[in-house]
Amino acid sequence: MPDTPSETSVSFRSDVTVELVKHNAADSDVLWAARVSTAGEQSLDELGKDPERSKGLINYLMRDRHGSPFEHNSMTFLVSAPIFVFREFMRHRVGWSYNEESGRYRELQPVFYVPGEDRKLVQQGRPGKYEFVHGSPEQHAAVSETMRASYLESYEAYQRMLKDGVAREVARAVLPVGLFSSMYATCNARSLMHFLSLRTKDDRAAVPSFPQREIEMVAERMEAEWARLMPLTYAAFNANGRQAP
Ligand SMILES: Cc1cc2nc3c(=O)[nH]c(=O)nc-3n(C[C@H](O)[C@H](O)[C@H](O)COP(=O)(O)OP(=O)(O)OC[C@H]3O[C@@H](n4cnc5c(N)ncnc54)[C@H](O)[C@@H]3O)c2cc1C
Repeated sequence: MPDTPSETSVSFRSDVTVELVKHNAADSDVLWAARVSTAGEQSLDELGKDPERSKGLINYLMRDRHGSPFEHNSMTFLVSAPIFVFREFMRHRVGWSYNEESGRYRELQPVFYVPGEDRKLVQQGRPGKYEFVHGSPEQHAAVSETMRASYLESYEAYQRMLKDGVAREVARAVLPVGLFSSMYATCNARSLMHFLSLRTKDDRAAVPSFPQREIEMVAERMEAEWARLMPLTYAAFNANGRQAP
């Protein structure tokens, strides 16, 4: 691949995007997997027979933590978010597959994260017991200006090195974690529930979590897609303290 940098204008974003690109996930996948226990090879015939019983079975599996029936499904998301979100995301090792754009094989595009007006900027209290509160207009302006200036300087340094013939994999060292990246992430309902239990803050959670807002923004978008695909499983997740079974 050529090493010539392209002339691309810098852009700043305060959102993330999540697109469900592929899925094979329905509440019925949980039911046939669970019913093989008692119905054997007839478990598929049982589908759709008694909706109330199906709802009850899913709730029972969730409550009593019979987790494996929630693994027979698949969702693939295309996520676009800052690199610091991906660093947190990829700590989720079990039941997840990832492929991310390469900084070795492609010139990284100048798209950078700047917090939006609604992003709480100020941390109060001590770790494990702190809360976030809104920043003043001056703090918002300072964050925005400082980040933009720093990003521009870094990206110019990156471009200078590329122009001087330095390999992309070396030049990228100057780029910050606020740079946007993109990845495909594939999971199943069980691994997604574990991720949501840790990366969303929700009053229904039996064990509260305090995620960084930006990964929570990704998690919320995934949750909305999954809720549409598997409504009974989603309801049981919420009713049982938002923990993975
Ligand atoms: C609010 C918050 C703050 C965090 N802060 C930090 C931090 O300061 N520093 C830091 O390094 N990380 C931090 N993390 C990341 C955290 O420690 C986990 O790596 C991350 O949440 C993924 O969770 P997990 O290991 O349960 O998920 P997965 O890797 O998907 O694992 C799922 C489950 O499989 C089992 N499992 C997986 N691997 C093993 C194993 N090797 N041995 C035994 N059981 C296993 C466990 O039951 C685990 O819960 C933070 C996470 C959150 C949500």
